[in-house]
Amino acid sequence: MGLEQQIRSQILTSTLEKFVNWARKSSVWPATFGLACCAIEMICTAANRFDIARFGMEAFRASPRQADLMIVAGTVTKKMVPAVVRIYEQMPEPKWVIAMGACASSGGIFRSYAVVQGIDRYLPVDVYVPGCPPPAGSSALRDPQAARKDPQRSVPHAEGRARRGRSPRGAGPSGGAGVSAEAPKRTYLEEVMDGLPDGAVAKRESFREQWAVVVRQEALAEVMRELRNRWGFRYLIDVTAVDFHPRNPRFQIVYHLWCHEHNVMLRVKAWVEGDPPSVPSMTALWSTANWHERECYDLFGILFDGHPDLRRILLPDPWEGHPLRKDYPTEGPDWDVD
Ligand code: SF4
Repeated sequence: MGLEQQIRSQILTSTLEKFVNWARKSSVWPATFGLACCAIEMICTAANRFDIARFGMEAFRASPRQADLMIVAGTVTKKMVPAVVRIYEQMPEPKWVIAMGACASSGGIFRSYAVVQGIDRYLPVDVYVPGCPPPAGSSALRDPQAARKDPQRSVPHAEGRARRGRSPRGAGPSGGAGVSAEAPKRTYLEEVMDGLPDGAVAKRESFREQWAVVVRQEALAEVMRELRNRWGFRYLIDVTAVDFHPRNPRFQIVYHLWCHEHNVMLRVKAWVEGDPPSVPSMTALWSTANWHERECYDLFGILFDGHPDLRRILLPDPWEGHPLRKDYPTEGPDWDVD
């Protein structure tokens, strides 16, 4: 073979444009970020089973400057749009966008005030991937191993052993000992409820082995102080509210308290009167009340007297109204992201 033929058999000639585009097509680098459940599927594509490294795409880039593909994986909230658009703007040209899943493509099941009804309202989408979520590798559904009727897995508690253990939600009226044939003893929670100030409790409720006390609004501050300081409920797990519109009073405030020493949870509820509705702030007793109360204010419009900094925490400051109120329009007011 002459030298000329030898060289021809080992060298390809092309245009620079074709060559660069071939390289780009074979090594798309996605920006690393995810928004909701679809992001888990996106992450799986990079893991061992589906392994997009096979297509030269393993390099998820932490910096948008090094990425040329944005996979919008998940529900896009209106609050998140400015951040998503900013990441896109920081990516160099040429760049592409995949709307992964029903939420990114159209808002999915979330036809609500807070969710963007399709990211293509803000970004030029090149590819829409249907599904909720789109599986990381749809061929997996046809995988004969995965489709086997007998998965060859043992079933917990199937060998005659009793189910025992604590409810992860905390102790019930039997003291949290799980299923028991013994007669229930007087528990710490019953002691606590009996020991609360006279006339403060309007009602006791037990649901699925969890106790709640409905406290009169005027006694709320005193009851909460007693629960923390006398009965050892040092952990305020959560503060939330329920809107019973059109009932009057329409709001009920709900506190979840935990006592580590006795390993029990107690729920405290109170009907909230007033227009605007207001209750005392618990920030002096539990510092965690701070942002829980801001959330209740933000979403329900309940005021907390004595809160050191009562302002919105989830929604943008100019937002009008309180979206978890039952009479709030489902899709909310139009809100311009710019
Ligand atoms: S499309 Fe489905 S899986 Fe994906 S983010 Fe929306 S709800 Fe989650």
